[in-house]
Amino acid sequence: MRVDLNVPLEDGAVADDLRITTALPTLEWLRENDAAVVVAGHLGRPKGAPDPEYSMAPVAARLSELLGQAVPLAPHVVGAAVDSYVASLEPGDLLMLENLRFERGETEDDPAFSTNLSELADDYVNEAFGASHRAHASIVGPPRLLPSAGGRLLFREVETLSRLLEAEEHPFVAVLGGAEISGKIDVIRSLLPRVDELLIGGAMACTFFRAMGLEVGDSLVEADRIELAKDLLATSGKKLILPRGGDIAPSLERASEHRSVAVDAIPKGWAVYDIDAATQHDYRARLLRAKTIFWNGPMGVFETPPFDAGTRAIATALVEAGKKGAVTVVGGGDSVAAVAGLEDQLTHVSTGGGASLEFLEGKELPGVAALEDK
Ligand code: ADP
Ligand code: MG
Repeated sequence: MRVDLNVPLEDGAVADDLRITTALPTLEWLRENDAAVVVAGHLGRPKGAPDPEYSMAPVAARLSELLGQAVPLAPHVVGAAVDSYVASLEPGDLLMLENLRFERGETEDDPAFSTNLSELADDYVNEAFGASHRAHASIVGPPRLLPSAGGRLLFREVETLSRLLEAEEHPFVAVLGGAEISGKIDVIRSLLPRVDELLIGGAMACTFFRAMGLEVGDSLVEADRIELAKDLLATSGKKLILPRGGDIAPSLERASEHRSVAVDAIPKGWAVYDIDAATQHDYRARLLRAKTIFWNGPMGVFETPPFDAGTRAIATALVEAGKKGAVTVVGGGDSVAAVAGLEDQLTHVSTGGGASLEFLEGKELPGVAALEDK
C-alpha cells in the first residue's frame, strides 16, 4: 500500500499526522480482511541514498500508536533483508518500508526498482493521492505488474474533484487567494469557463489591482504577471470578482496600526495584508448563493492576526453555505491549515496539495491513470 506519509516532523517526531490518519480506513479494512500490509511512502527530499534525517522511523512509531499494533520498520526499501521480512509476515501484520526516496530508482521510475518493489506484494493499493501527480516508481510501477486498486481516500479525492470539473450544480463559485498568481494560473484558466464567479483574495489581488492601474503601496505584487492579469481582466472581467478594500499596515511588525481602505486609496508605504470587512461581507453573500464552492489559498497573511480575519470569514461562509446544501471543497496546503477543526462541516478537504490543483487544471494524474480499469 502506497501512502502519502510525507508529514512534517519536529524534534524527530511527527508534528501533524493528518496524512497518516486519513489513510487508516483503507489500512484497517485491509487488515480486517486478513491482508499482511507492506506500507510504503516517502518523507522529505533525500538525495536517492539512505539519510538518517529522513528515516521513516517516527512515521512508523506514530502509525503504531494510532493502530495499537506494532509497525516494524524495514531496514531498507528493497533487498534480501526486506524480502525475508516480508516472507515472515502473517495475515493482519504490518511492515513499513524505509523512505522510498532512499532509492534513486523511485523518482526516476526505474523499471528494475519497480519490479523489486512489486515483488514484495501480491496486490497493490494506491492511497497516496497527494503523490499521484508524479510518475514515480512506487506510483506507476506496481500497477503495470500487479492487480491494483485505489484506496478510499484516493477514490474520494478523484470523485469529489471530478464533480467540480463537471460543475454539476450552479452557481459554482471558486475562491482563490494566496501569495502568487504564477503557481495558480493554470487552475484559474481551467476554472474560469466552469465557474459563475471567481473571487480573488490574498496578495494575488494586488497584481490585479496593478493591472487596473491602481496604486498598491508596498503590497506583494508579481511585476512579471501584470500583463497576464490584464489579459484575464479583459477576457473574463465579468467573472473575476476583486476585493473592494484591503486591511493595510505599514509592515507586518506594525500590524497593530492596521486599518481598512478602499482599493483606490492604498497609501504609499503601506501594504495590503488582508481583505477588508466590506469584501468579507460581499464574498459571504456570493458564497451563500452558491451550490458548488471550491476554495484554495488564504485571503490574507492569516499566520499574523488580525490578518486572519478575511480567511476566517471565508471558512465560516463555506460552513454556512454547506448547511444550506452547497458542496464545499477546500484544497491546497495553507488553506487546509486554515480550515483545521472545520473538516467535518465541509464536503471535502483535499490533502492532495499540488495533486489536487493539477487535477483541477484538467491534467491526467499518472498515478490515477495507472489504476484505470483495474
Ligand atoms: P495554499 O498553500 O493554500 O495553496 P499559497 O501557498 O498559495 O496557499 O499562499 C499562502 C500564503 O500566502 C500564506 O503564507 C499567506 O501569508 C500569503 N499571503 C496571503 N495574502 C497575502 C498578502 N496580502 N500579502 C502577503 N502574503 C500573503
Ligand atoms: Mg502554500
